[in-house]
Amino acid sequence: MRKKQFKAESKRLLDLMVNSIYTHKEIFLREIISNASDAIDKLCYLSLTDDKVGLNRGDFAITISVDKDARTLTVSDNGIGMSADELENNLGVIASSGSYKFRREQSEDADTDIIGQFGVGFYSAFMVADHITVVTKKYGETQAWKWESSGAEGYTVTEAERDAVGTDIIMHIKEDGEEAGEFSRYLEDWTIKSLVKKYSDYIRFPIKMLLPHSVKKPDSPDDKPEYETVYEWETLNSMVPLWQRKKSEVTKEEYDEFYQQRFGEMAPPQSVISVSAEGAVTYKALLFLPSKVPNLYYTQDFKPGLQLYSAGVMIMDHCQELLPEYFSFVRGVVDSPDLSLNISRELLQHDRQLKIISSNLEKKIISELKKMLSDDRAGYEKFYENFGRALKVGVLNQFGEKRESLQELLLFYSSTEKKLVTLREYADRMPESQKYIYYAAGDTLEAIDSLPQTELLKERGTEILYCTDRADEFLADSLRTYDGKEFRSAVDGDLGLEDEPKPQESESDKECLAFIKETLGDRVDEVKASQKLKSHPVCMTSGDGLTFEMEKYFQAVQP
Ligand code: ADP
Ligand code: MG
Repeated sequence: MRKKQFKAESKRLLDLMVNSIYTHKEIFLREIISNASDAIDKLCYLSLTDDKVGLNRGDFAITISVDKDARTLTVSDNGIGMSADELENNLGVIASSGSYKFRREQSEDADTDIIGQFGVGFYSAFMVADHITVVTKKYGETQAWKWESSGAEGYTVTEAERDAVGTDIIMHIKEDGEEAGEFSRYLEDWTIKSLVKKYSDYIRFPIKMLLPHSVKKPDSPDDKPEYETVYEWETLNSMVPLWQRKKSEVTKEEYDEFYQQRFGEMAPPQSVISVSAEGAVTYKALLFLPSKVPNLYYTQDFKPGLQLYSAGVMIMDHCQELLPEYFSFVRGVVDSPDLSLNISRELLQHDRQLKIISSNLEKKIISELKKMLSDDRAGYEKFYENFGRALKVGVLNQFGEKRESLQELLLFYSSTEKKLVTLREYADRMPESQKYIYYAAGDTLEAIDSLPQTELLKERGTEILYCTDRADEFLADSLRTYDGKEFRSAVDGDLGLEDEPKPQESESDKECLAFIKETLGDRVDEVKASQKLKSHPVCMTSGDGLTFEMEKYFQAVQP
């Protein structure tokens, strides 16, 4: 039997695990339990459509047992199990735990944090164990397999015996070092009980442990009772998922922990939206607005969508039908007892109830953002910095009421306020005499501010919206109006001012203009006098059609 080597990055992670600081170590149990729960989720989902599974929702469980003499801690599940190939691919390489793969590239120091914040899956067990044995039998297969490893040297996979489908993770706990009980504590019932309560309480399958109870011997006299110790299965977790609990009864820490753990994020979420709906469709939802742009957000590898449960059974990990595309950065969970369970995942796309939920969630998110905009402006600006682009795309792709609602969430830099403002704020400030909403585009605020064309408006104190993001100019162009007021470029063409001074051209002016036109030839369409300028002698303007900034954009994107 040949020992196989771990892939390089797995090796490095193993080193990290072994050397991680004390307080982090305990999260290994949460990781092992969450894998067991995921495996049960998969088989539980299969059992809905496949009678051969032979298990009902209530039959699934995770069991934990301790053998102090052998120094082993075992976590077993009756989930889907792994084939020999899966053992190799899932436990032999770290790549399956996508979160680590990306962060590894960011900084060396971030490493230790990763472990503390959300762990890195299966490998974390090497923080407390010096030898791990995995015995597993995959659903639908007859052969069971054993994976064994003592850490960095590699692992072996051999044939094994296991009656039922499922997996045992057998961790041989390290000997204590200088600190008494450093590792031996993981062989104590009470440690396991409290860790399950702390990290895995909301797991939706029972986590059971055979625990000793002292009971009166049945044949002992009542006046002189004698006691004996019997072992009974006890369920350690409450099994109430976070989204089933009232928002007022959940702490910020619980939400943060849940979000970071479940979605592999380092930072806590910016806000949590908890929805409990009854009516056309009954469902509960827990949505999170990230405080940072998710790692893979701007890549093809980003998987949008919410986790979808039906009465506690996970149907889908990334249900995209639950969110409009422009809210794809939102993370969360939806649980509805109303969804027909045995419809295929493809059919979900056309599910009427799903559409109702999705449209409600969209409204909830918009109203949460509006609330943030009015109650926590700084927070909103931070959000906008991260996800403003997505909102803009949303506005560009929507029409009617939805667009009207979304456009209230846009922010632009104001030339007079020197900060980000909303269109509503701009419109409310507009003097009677002002007909248009002025905007100007450029690469930076400074560049726009020094455009000669903006001089007249600035001199008059007229507010201009500075568009430094390409999408902003498209927005102004595509929205056309806001609150009945037209957008107008401050840079191109005429400003449409009622009292815009009309240039008086003398004979010599005309001669001069003709001379310039003749000299520049085809390079310009027209040379004319302008009153827009104050301290600058000349400026270029694009007249009708594409603005310069748009032209630059199209040139840049052309192959
Ligand atoms: P992640 O859970 O993020 O995928 P892990 O390192 O925790 O990463 O686990 C790696 C993979 O190993 C899992 O995705 C799963 O395929 C497999 N696995 C781990 N534990 C079990 C288990 N108890 N039953 C079935 N498969 C498991
Ligand atoms: Mg995991």
